[in-house]
Order: sequence, then structure tokens, then C-alpha cells
Amino acid sequence: MSTIAAPTPKVKNAQPKDYNSPLFAELGLPSDPNNLYRQTVGCMLYGAEVMGLPNYLQQILAQPKNEIMVHFPVKMDDGRFQLFKGYRVQHNNALGPYKGGLRFHPDVHLDDVKSLAFLMTMKCSLVGVPYGGGKGGIKVDPRKHSKGEMERIVRRFTSAIAHNVGPEYDIPAPDVGSNSQHMAWIADTYTFLSEIGGSNPTAVVTGKPVEYGGSLGREKATGQGVVDTLVEMLPELNLRPDQCTFSVLGYGNVGSWSGKIFQDKGAKMIAVADHTGFIKNDKGIDAHDLAKYVDQHGGVKGYTKAGAITKEEFYRTKVDVFIPAALEQMVQETEAAWLDCKVVAEGANAPTTPAGERVLQGRGIEVLPAILCNAGGVTVSYFEWVQNKTFQSWELEKVDSLLNKHMLGAAARTRAARKKYNCELRTAAYIAALERLQKAYEFRGIFP
Ligand code: GLU
Repeated sequence: MSTIAAPTPKVKNAQPKDYNSPLFAELGLPSDPNNLYRQTVGCMLYGAEVMGLPNYLQQILAQPKNEIMVHFPVKMDDGRFQLFKGYRVQHNNALGPYKGGLRFHPDVHLDDVKSLAFLMTMKCSLVGVPYGGGKGGIKVDPRKHSKGEMERIVRRFTSAIAHNVGPEYDIPAPDVGSNSQHMAWIADTYTFLSEIGGSNPTAVVTGKPVEYGGSLGREKATGQGVVDTLVEMLPELNLRPDQCTFSVLGYGNVGSWSGKIFQDKGAKMIAVADHTGFIKNDKGIDAHDLAKYVDQHGGVKGYTKAGAITKEEFYRTKVDVFIPAALEQMVQETEAAWLDCKVVAEGANAPTTPAGERVLQGRGIEVLPAILCNAGGVTVSYFEWVQNKTFQSWELEKVDSLLNKHMLGAAARTRAARKKYNCELRTAAYIAALERLQKAYEFRGIFP
């Protein structure tokens, strides 16, 4: 148990450490304050309370519409069969088809997927794309399988969920552990299984390789969105992107692209951590060079142009901006008390726990919340889907400038909610997302 007392937050409407909405008991939702679903939905329900969202909408949004779980056997290279578990959770489709990534990780379980699906509904609403929220995954460690085994796992999973996804119904994409090759196998399997009419069945999934229906700019899109958000928000904190120092937690797709793009704006990367180790160089770590090293070696460990440090030293490294771009719940009370930064830009989904966030608030550290900061990925997924459905391919400049417009629009809506309700940015981002959903529900009504 942590011994750190959460200081009194500086913002009037700061969210509580554990928001205990009456809905949790009413709907039989998890009572453990460390449960990710309770934490993420709790933050939204707190925003709902602050803005006075009607109770029936709170109830609808506190639970996913569908939770699909599949088990499927796959033949391994040595001829034996192994059984795998896969998920697809469809949280809400009031604003459009379900949309969200597929996580391939050995620790994937239902509560995570539910939380991540819920976050997608909020993210899509905030950033203004016509989608609802979904998320899925396979309980698998992609690093432990050959390319052939992964192909059979992904194709068999696709056939197991094929009746529950579709270009107008539910559109998966990459997430932690999955990549454009996996999306290509999904698109090809779905195309093979579907009856080809006038539409383009490869639009069932986004984040595909550019050569096979993908969009220019999709691979870097989440990192690009993180940096677009920083460039927009830093001046109000009296920080200039070209004079910032920063550290990154997780150097996969989101971490490495955030690092490279932020560095190209003139910022200096001082420390990086991932599942293999922690490294630091006060003179700066070249983000492009490190990305090449990680591609070849699987992690930052052993990178000779920076020194190895401990976990605590990594978090205590003095920087202007800290970018958590790994898994959920990595910034808890202890890490929040260690951090020596001015801004936390959440590249990952739900990297900060409510208790951790309260410590950050008390210390005057600004948090750019994930549903705003990492919405770039799904935004460019939307552009890919539009290109697929209209048989176009856009230039990178068009993708980047439209992405920037969506990110700035989301930032403006978040700021407006912060001003209206005098709350911190996470609550404001949820309120801005909820405002759009509320309007849609009011126009739609409830059938019948
Ligand atoms: N997995 C990404 C996310 O969490 C992207 C989802 C998408 O492109 O649909 O936002």
C-alpha cells in the first residue's frame, strides 16, 4: 500500500481519488478501486455528475452493449494444437459504427478490453469522428510465435468474429502488440469470407499497410496527434515546444513516433523506458536513432549512446514533458510523486490512475488526458476508412492537416468545458465528449 498522502488539488472541481458513483452498486460494476474499468468509467461518471448528465445516459454509457468472447484452436509449427482466447467488446454505437483496436498481449482480459472500448466511445466523440467505441484482443504474446503461427492465429480469430464485425458495423485497428501486417491478414480473411458486393470489404479494418488499402500517415498518427496536442497546449503553460526537454515511457509505435516528431519540432529527449530497461542522457537521445535500435534489438536495453538508470531515476528525471506511451495504470501514486515534470501527455490509454492523477494535480503538474492526446490514431483510421469507401488515396499533407484540425477542435472543446465547469482537463475532456453524445441521444430518442 502506498504511504503517500494525496495533497489537496489546486483545481476546484478536481476529480476524487476514487469516485464512487451510486451506479457502481446499482449496475453490479466492480467494487475494487484498483479495477481499471471502475477507474475509467468512474472518471466519466464524475464528469457526468459535474455537467448534470441525465441518469439514463449515465447508465447506458457505464456499460458496453456487447461483450463477445471466443475460443479457437490453432495448429502450431510443431503440429500440436493450441487453444486461444479472443475478445471483442462493443461499447456504444450511437454516433456511428463501433471502432477500436485489437490488443495482442498475454495479459489481455475482459475488464481491460471493456475499459478500452469505453475509452474509444469517448475519444471518437471528443475528436469528432462518426464512430462509436469498441476494442478487442487476443490473449497471446506475439513475440513468442513465428510469423506463420501469428498468421494462423490472426486469420482464425478473424473467422471467429467475422459475423460480429463489418465495414459499416464494427471496424478493428492496431493496438498494443498488433501491426499493419496483422491488419492485412484480417482484411484478406474477411474479404475471402464475405460476399463481395459493391462495397470494399477491406474497409472492415484500418491501420492496413499503405500498399494494401492503408492511409499515408496512419502509422505515425497517434504520435503525431500527441505532438499536435502538445504544440497547441504548451504555450498556455508558458512552455515552447522547441525549448522543451522530455522523457518517454514505452518506445513502441506511439512512444517512438511521439519522440521522433517532438524532436523534429526542436524538443530534446532525455530519458526513455520500456519493458527491457531505463536509459538517460542529459545531452539528449536521438529519437530516430533509438527507434532504429529498438527495431533491431526489441527494446532500449543495451543502447550505448545513453546510460542505464533505475526505474526511480527514470521517473525522477527533470523534464518539461513526460509522455507515458505504454500500458494502462503505470503512473500510480508512487510514480506521480517521483515525476519531476510540468506536463504529462498521455500517449497511452489510461496510463494514470485517479489516485496518481490527484497527486499530480496537488503538485501542479498538468495532465493532457488520453482521450484528447492519443485520439490521432483513430482520427487517421477514419480517414483511411473514408478513402477505402470512396476508392481514393490522399496525400500525406492532406492527412496531416485534417488530423491537425480534428486535434485542435478537440482541444478547443476541452478548453471550453474546462472554462464552463472550472474543472481539470480530464473531466473537461469527458464532459466535451458527453455533450456530443447527449445531443445525439436527445435527437435519436430511445427506441421504441
Ligand atoms: N488502438 C488505437 C487507439 O486506442 C487506434 C484505434 C483505431 O484506430 O481504431 O486509439
